[in-house]
Amino acid sequence: MHSKPSSPAAQVPSGISRREFLATSSAALIAGSLSPETSLAAESPTTAKLALNGGEKAVKTSVKQAIRWGEPERERLNAMLGQDTLFYWKGPQTTLMIERFKNICPLKYVQPCSSGTAALHIAVAAAGIGPGDEVITSPITDIGTVIGVIYQQGVPVFADLGASTYNLDPADVERRITPKTKAIIAVHLCGNPCDLRALKAIADKHGLVLIEDAAQAWGAKHRGQPIGNVGHITCFSLQNSKHITCGDGGLVASNDERFGPLLQRFGDKGSDRVKGGLFELFATNYRMSEPQAAVVAAQLERLEGIVSQRAKVGNLLTEQITGLPGVLPHQVHPEDRCGYWFYFFRIKPEAFRYNRAEFVKALAAEGVETSAGYIPVPLHRNPVFLKHGFFAGRWPVRELGLTTMDYSKHQTPEAEAILQTGIRIGINEVMTEDYISGVAEAIRKVARHYAV
Ligand SMILES: *Cc1c(COP(=O)(O)O)cnc(C)c1O
Repeated sequence: MHSKPSSPAAQVPSGISRREFLATSSAALIAGSLSPETSLAAESPTTAKLALNGGEKAVKTSVKQAIRWGEPERERLNAMLGQDTLFYWKGPQTTLMIERFKNICPLKYVQPCSSGTAALHIAVAAAGIGPGDEVITSPITDIGTVIGVIYQQGVPVFADLGASTYNLDPADVERRITPKTKAIIAVHLCGNPCDLRALKAIADKHGLVLIEDAAQAWGAKHRGQPIGNVGHITCFSLQNSKHITCGDGGLVASNDERFGPLLQRFGDKGSDRVKGGLFELFATNYRMSEPQAAVVAAQLERLEGIVSQRAKVGNLLTEQITGLPGVLPHQVHPEDRCGYWFYFFRIKPEAFRYNRAEFVKALAAEGVETSAGYIPVPLHRNPVFLKHGFFAGRWPVRELGLTTMDYSKHQTPEAEAILQTGIRIGINEVMTEDYISGVAEAIRKVARHYAV
């Protein structure tokens, strides 16, 4: 999923400030014909006519696309082209990339791989997930979170989510634990850290492996610590839409002596490049190569700038829409840093006269980069889950009686509600506080106009 902010600059006559301009246009409106509702508090910009109905746009600043790569990447790629091998193992670009990764996320074992999906597959394989083993995770995520579980013949079990964090609800996770549960995959949705303390306590109490899906959480911090340091294994994606990228790629990392050494083997056809020897494990080829590592090494140097700016504007948006009737801001723990892969807020349908689609239309008309929802339905509501048709239309673990899972009966009501009432605001690292204040103003304006 991509965040592509691109709204044209709203025209503010030169020589006057935005506030003066708004005041002037409000005054002009008051002089003209106004609905009684609007004239009550006509001083506020939020009561100005909706842009949808021909009013001035709330967002006055144009959104620029971030420039995501350039000279540093070119330098690394040039260095890479001077090498006589492009293989990852002990490759100079891979070595540099891992060193820079460890500066950001200090984990002992790091395995580069071909995607976030690959990273997650490697993680569940290293965690020992096998036929019939249950892995509890979020139903609102990229399908890559569970692809590896299903390929290992494990069974994804979807738990419900926090109403405003959109992350695993630890109480519901605990309710879904059975004797077959082996692991939890905590997805830090939008780069917002999960309640890792609670999830780790549950994992420890029940002897489960805690895997962090940090695909959307580059640069995030949990209670001041870099993301990835609480779970046993952490997975990152370097896919094009993520904070940093090489087009496609991933990293999987661990500090745990039980799992760490296995990451290389499960990412590299089961072969042990440290000790050598015969195949003792079975795995596929998920290797990254030097060209990708070269780009990632350069991208990692950009990360802090990218995430700190996104965190700043995302938090500012929350600050500015908190307390607005009918609007639930994106909830982030005050001691955490969310990298806002995108900003996600919810509306209470009963608070408004118009539905979400109309709300989003009005926001877009105000100049906001926005869309309704995220994935269309929770993962298990997709046909392949409803039909249990994972392998040539069949699901061996169910046919063999290793699971009784029936996804057509699986319920995660809060997740359904989140997807039906969530509104997505595109965030990028070149957005200014001025732009975000315009977005907040647009949300206030639309909420006020559409309030019951
Ligand atoms: C992107 C993403 C993945 C999969 O990563 P790919 O690199 O696209 O395979 C997994 N989980 C989440 C939460 C993601 O956002």
